[in-house]
Amino acid sequence: MGALHQSAVIVAAGRGSRMGLERNKVLYPVLGVPVIVRTAQAFAQSGLFDEIVIVASACDMEEMRAMLLSAGVPVRAIVEGGRDRQESVSRGVAACSAEAEIIAIHDGARPLVTREVIAATIDSARQYGTGVAAVMLKDTVKRVDERGVVVDTPMRDTLRAVQTPQTFAASLIRAAHARYADGNERGERATDDAMLAEWMGEAVRLTPGDAENIKLTTPEDMLLAQQVLLRRGEKSEEEKRMMMRIGHGYDVHRLVEGRDLILCGVNVPYTLGLLGHSDADVAYHALTDAILGAAAMGDIGRHFPDSDPQYKGADSGKLLDHVMALVHERGYAVSNVDVTIICQRPKLKDYIEQMRGNVARHLGVDVDCVNVKATTTEKLGFEGEGLGISAHAVACIYSLRHG
Ligand code: MG
Repeated sequence: MGALHQSAVIVAAGRGSRMGLERNKVLYPVLGVPVIVRTAQAFAQSGLFDEIVIVASACDMEEMRAMLLSAGVPVRAIVEGGRDRQESVSRGVAACSAEAEIIAIHDGARPLVTREVIAATIDSARQYGTGVAAVMLKDTVKRVDERGVVVDTPMRDTLRAVQTPQTFAASLIRAAHARYADGNERGERATDDAMLAEWMGEAVRLTPGDAENIKLTTPEDMLLAQQVLLRRGEKSEEEKRMMMRIGHGYDVHRLVEGRDLILCGVNVPYTLGLLGHSDADVAYHALTDAILGAAAMGDIGRHFPDSDPQYKGADSGKLLDHVMALVHERGYAVSNVDVTIICQRPKLKDYIEQMRGNVARHLGVDVDCVNVKATTTEKLGFEGEGLGISAHAVACIYSLRHG
């Protein structure tokens, strides 16, 4: 697109009442990703917009903010909705930056919108001032009276079902919202933005919508959306779980006098202990590196530099907790881990169960997902000579997000 400043307003201030759900339907996941995140992603990934504004109910704002942040979807603002759709959109439009020249308004509950549908509305708005996605009707429509008796039948080829996006020259939609803030001459409120443009006397241009660009309104719609996404090649939740990532970690610390020997958080009685900047828990360090490795997030030294005095004597379990929070933020969960401690003396077998329990607690997984084992090296090498202890770890993680 050219240099015009283009903004998107995504309206998600509705409730879940029609879905029989207590929460707003856009907070519910389809294939593991919340509807509002999918919708915002469709706009962000289209590359057509300079900014995205979300309109939400006050009670949903914080949750949406966290969801969008964790999915890495950039939004200019999340603003509180009004008493009806018209007022909600008006607030979203007001939150767009002053430079906005084109504003696309979209339902938060239409996550299946394609780039083609969005782009067609923008092209039209740039040329004519308006561009509204619409589709032909499959059903014949009847006009009825209060009793439900048919008055007449409009010819089907003169009818269209309108969707969103509805895209406008910013000056037009701002003027329309200002002029009809209290409704039109008959006191009517707009149920879509095209109505406002119509009231302004504008020729509203329709552009090709898409039968799949459905508004998720009922529980059946959620299932339909899932089917569409699977057909578009997205992985099922089961498949995503199967997509494992593996990481390996290795660490060594020297055994010296005057230090505690801490392995997987257990203070093991011994005459020597491991030397290090932190508590020198060599097993936790290897495990932390394995998890960082699986997430492709570098290594422990990058996150907790030796040179940083705040980690002096640090509890390595705390460092592990911090890394787990980072990994969760990226949308990963731990499947299982395996830790091997290479240590000639002391014997560790009596502490293994306690170590497994500690690891499971830090990782937030079942103890069945954690293995800790110890081996000697038949007195060979530095471990065998009792000069130090080393540890290896492998970790399997999986993404809870898009395949
Ligand atoms: Mg270390």
